Amino acid sequence: MAKKSIADVNVADKTVLMRVDFNVPLDDHCNVTDDRRVRMAVPSIKSVIDRGGKLILCSHLGQPKDGEDLGKYSLKPAAEVLSGLLGKPVAFASDTVDADATAKVAALKGGEVLLLENLRFNKGEKKGDAVFAGKLAAFADIYCNDAFGTCHRTDASMVAVPQAMAGKPRVVGFLVQKEVQYLSDAIANPQRPFIAILGGAKVSDKINVIKNLLTICDKVLIGGAMAYTFAVAKGGKVGRSRVEMDRVELAKELIASGGDKLVLPVDTHCGDAFNANCNKVVVKAGEIPDTFEGFDIGPETAKQYAIEVSKAKTVVWNGPMGVFEMPPFDAGTRAVAEAIANSSSTSIIGGGDSAAAIQQLGFADKVSHVSTGGGASLSMLEGEKFAAVELLDEA
Ligand code: AMP
Repeated sequence: MAKKSIADVNVADKTVLMRVDFNVPLDDHCNVTDDRRVRMAVPSIKSVIDRGGKLILCSHLGQPKDGEDLGKYSLKPAAEVLSGLLGKPVAFASDTVDADATAKVAALKGGEVLLLENLRFNKGEKKGDAVFAGKLAAFADIYCNDAFGTCHRTDASMVAVPQAMAGKPRVVGFLVQKEVQYLSDAIANPQRPFIAILGGAKVSDKINVIKNLLTICDKVLIGGAMAYTFAVAKGGKVGRSRVEMDRVELAKELIASGGDKLVLPVDTHCGDAFNANCNKVVVKAGEIPDTFEGFDIGPETAKQYAIEVSKAKTVVWNGPMGVFEMPPFDAGTRAVAEAIANSSSTSIIGGGDSAAAIQQLGFADKVSHVSTGGGASLSMLEGEKFAAVELLDEA
């Protein structure tokens, strides 16, 4: 069911509490090294302030631990970045629900923005604490969730705050709206053939994704290091490749239950050391020499996967096909990315490394949707429903 968005509510002179994902990377001097997450929230932010709303932004940053120097987790640098992007001042509160935040919320005028300090400085955030949530909720007339990267979590600002604001408008921002629409539509009403391409380092990270997608996709193509756990399950030789021995039984079960739907590589590009200058060899899957390690799908597999992509109407891709950071072992990932970029299918790239790969290879603008949330997009592909989104108002 579609959710009401920030564009659907009257915000003039109202106080809006917007949960954003400003979990930005910082260098040793606390400079923001990549402002993408801040930029992505700008459309929702502008929608509120351009219509005269008073905007309170809140987010987490990193995983501050007890006894650590909290200064390095401050959100202040993000306020400065946002101020530059908006071309206007962004006020900053040095706490989340205490004296400074309370005074600055009270002083907010229509069209102004205030960013609260890192929510995780308050222990109540991770615990989903109702008292902490109640204090945040009391600041605002409207709640907006635009933090897709955190939607699979049940932290206070994601669930307990909107719960405490029952009866007031509780809406999604544009980023969450787009992500949920793409990922849930692809799963609920896919245009067929619907294929998934899953790669990456570990089977264990993707078990539930593979299981769920095997029930809804026409084919699930496997690549990345996890292919070697499947190769062992089939009785193959994988040399020194990365294998999760404790997942071999599970891989056998997936092979049995997946039948023809589960497609494994037919060849592998291997190296005898983890560097670009190593000796290389392409061998059939399951025939890797003892002193070699599989670093990529082989050219025949890349060709087959590209053909599957060209026949598909919906493609979901999560996880690189090999060590794409180290050419020539980027070839498999590049071939899949290129095939997706050239196809007219609805193509959805799960976050994390496949999003990074598609950006790095220059195809990001040729796909339908690149998800911004690694963990959150995987959870959606597992078929999970997010409490943080479910409880928001219906459109
Ligand atoms: P993930 O975070 O699970 O999506 O895994 C991404 C990482 O897996 C990337 O850093 C890749 O370099 C790595 N990876 C993919 N294929 C292989 C492989 N065959 N051997 C070692 N690492 C791999």
